[in-house]
Amino acid sequence: MIFGKRRIANCAWYRNLWGAKLGEQRAFWAIIVAAGRGLRMGDHADGPKQYRRIGDRSVIARTVKAFIDHPATIGIVTVIHPDDEELFEEAMRPVSADIPIRVVHGGATRQKSCRLGLEALINKHTGYVLIHDAARPFVDNAIINGVLDGLASGVKAILPAVAVADTLKRADQNGTVCDTVSRDGLYAAQTPQGFDFPAIHTAHQKAATDGFHEFTDDCAVMEWAGYAVRLSQGSPTNIKITTPEDIILANEKLAVGQPVDIRTGNGYDVHRLVPGDHVTLCGIDIPHTMRLDGHSDADVALHALTDALLATCGEGDIGDHFPPTDPKWKGAESGQFLKHAAQIVAGYGGKILNADVTLIAEAPKIGPHKLEMRENLAALLGISVDRCSVKATTNEKMGFAGRSEGIAAIATASVSYGNR
Ligand code: MG
Repeated sequence: MIFGKRRIANCAWYRNLWGAKLGEQRAFWAIIVAAGRGLRMGDHADGPKQYRRIGDRSVIARTVKAFIDHPATIGIVTVIHPDDEELFEEAMRPVSADIPIRVVHGGATRQKSCRLGLEALINKHTGYVLIHDAARPFVDNAIINGVLDGLASGVKAILPAVAVADTLKRADQNGTVCDTVSRDGLYAAQTPQGFDFPAIHTAHQKAATDGFHEFTDDCAVMEWAGYAVRLSQGSPTNIKITTPEDIILANEKLAVGQPVDIRTGNGYDVHRLVPGDHVTLCGIDIPHTMRLDGHSDADVALHALTDALLATCGEGDIGDHFPPTDPKWKGAESGQFLKHAAQIVAGYGGKILNADVTLIAEAPKIGPHKLEMRENLAALLGISVDRCSVKATTNEKMGFAGRSEGIAAIATASVSYGNR
C-alpha cells in the first residue's frame, strides 16, 4: 500500500541528487514503528496512543511530518497494527508528502515489527535507515542530523541519548531503598536510531533465526550481533508519549507561545406576554399573572443564550436547529435547545468558559430566583456556577418591555477553541 500516491511527486531522486551535489551521501529511509497497543495509556476513543491527538493532529501525524520535513529523507515506511489501517489513514489526512510513505503490517513484538519494516526496504538500495518510535512526535532536525553525522563517520549503529539527570535508586519489592546507583556513564536511549542498512537487516534476521525475540530497541540487536554502537546527542524534548499525563504535557508544550482561540457570541430574544399564571426564565418557573407566548416554553433567556453559543462556531441560530414550524418542539423545554447547542460547541472542540444573561422585564422580580437560574445554567452547560451569570433590569417603563408587553433577554457566551 502506498499512502497518498497522487500527491507524491517524483522527488526521491531529486533529493538524492541534492545530497550528492552537496558532496554527502546522507539520504536515508525512515522506519516509523507504530504497531504497539500502548497498554500504559489506557482505553481512549482515539485508539492506541500513537493515534491520540495533541494540538490539532495525531501523535503519529506529527512524527511522520517531522521526517517528511527533513531534507535527507527519501522515503518512510510506517509499520502499523493490522487493525489500525483506518485509524492511520484518518490520522494522516492533514499531512501532505512529497516522498513515498509505505505502510506495512507489524508483528507481535516491537522487534518483529522492525524486522518487517526493514524487509520492506530490501530492494530500495538504501545506505542508511533510521528507526523511530511513532510515540516520539517532537523529534527534530538537530537530533536526526546528529544521527546522520555519526553514520557518516562510518559507525554502523548510532543511538541518540541523554545523560541521566535524576539520582537513581534501587529498591526492593516493598519500596525500601537498597542503594544509590551511580549515574556515571548512564544514558537514556531515544530514537531515531540510525544504522547501516545491510548491517541492521542482517542482525535482525540473525536474531529471529537464532530465537531471540525480546530486544526492546534496535541498537540492542546490533550490540548482540557484535557491532559497536555510538551515542549521538538526544534531547530532553524528544519525549516518548507513554501515559495520559504525557498527552497533557505535550499539549502544553504545543500551546506555549501559540495564540489562543477564544470566541465570543451574543444572542437576543423577546417573547410577548399574554394572560397566564407563570413565566419560565433560565428554566425556572416563576409564578406571575402573565405567561410568555411562544411555540416552545418561550424561555427568552435560554433562547438568547442558545443563539450566543451557536454564534461562536458559525452554526446559525436556534431557528435553524429547532424550526418553530416543527410540531416536535411545541411546548418543549428550552433547556434541551441549550444542551444541544453546547453539544455542537463541544463537537467543534470548544470549551465553554462563561455564559451571561441579562433579562429586561418590569415584572416578575428576578432577584429571588437568580441563584437557582445560575445553577440551572451551570447544570445545562456542564460548567461551574461561577461561570454563569444572570442579571435583570427594568426598562424604566419605556417601550414594549416598559409597558409589560413582553420580556427580552440578551446573552453573551465565551468559548475556548484551543490554540489557533
Ligand atoms: Mg425565542
